[in-house]
Amino acid sequence: MSLIYLQFTNPGSHQTIQLVQNNDFPPRASSVTRNLQRHQTFTLTQITPIVQTLSNDLYRGTLAVPGKDIPIVVKQSRIEGDVLEFVSQLKGEAMVYCRDLQSCQGEVVPLFYGLYEGNIEGRPLACILLEDCGDPCDDDLKNLDMSIKLTIFEQFIALHKRAHIFHNETISSHMLLHQSPNGHSIRIISFSGGIRSDHQCEWSAHLVPGENRPKEGVSCGELFFLEKDLEIWHNPFFNYKGYILCENDGEVNLTLQKSEIDASMAM
Ligand SMILES: [Zn+2]
Repeated sequence: MSLIYLQFTNPGSHQTIQLVQNNDFPPRASSVTRNLQRHQTFTLTQITPIVQTLSNDLYRGTLAVPGKDIPIVVKQSRIEGDVLEFVSQLKGEAMVYCRDLQSCQGEVVPLFYGLYEGNIEGRPLACILLEDCGDPCDDDLKNLDMSIKLTIFEQFIALHKRAHIFHNETISSHMLLHQSPNGHSIRIISFSGGIRSDHQCEWSAHLVPGENRPKEGVSCGELFFLEKDLEIWHNPFFNYKGYILCENDGEVNLTLQKSEIDASMAM
């Protein structure tokens, strides 16, 4: 297998570095990966930071491949702090893309273009290259258009049922929205946290906006809370002495105890 090199000026250090693709994390064949194979060495330019976390820098860039500029997103392990742990986390996420998310790439999650490794001033560094799928959704999910809410929910159902992934952090910054005159698309990201890859989803309810939340078919904790955040059904939840109650058809049902919610949030 040929070596593929990525070179760019690191936004954190302003140094030009060279990374080599780690073939233990093979990307799925696509027009982009075929292009990279053909040219072998390519440069990342026009880097724009998106967000920085404790362990990662996320930024946009353009892969300058002869004849074509390819927009991508880079998730890079940080070069300060526990760098070995940050690289290890990123490899864990790359493995999820290669092993569990093969069938969802390009439809539910971004296409994965490979894991690249190198070092800067003797410190290890790794990057995941991903398809650029837009920007994170609005912080308050319930403010989104209903059509976007329904797409978000369908994408999480696909993640659960096709990939058996329980994401564990269904927050707006992990849902990328791309809007165009032809419509919108949603992709789910961030698979480095407390994800589980053996989820057997028991959700079977059909979402109809504005209808009462059904009593059957809603037995999946993650989808339950996601729907609650999105407010697709008529969801008259309220808090009573630490219990979350739900009014349905004029009845008040005990839905969850506060301790169950706290336990779910802490996962
Ligand atoms: Zn589920």
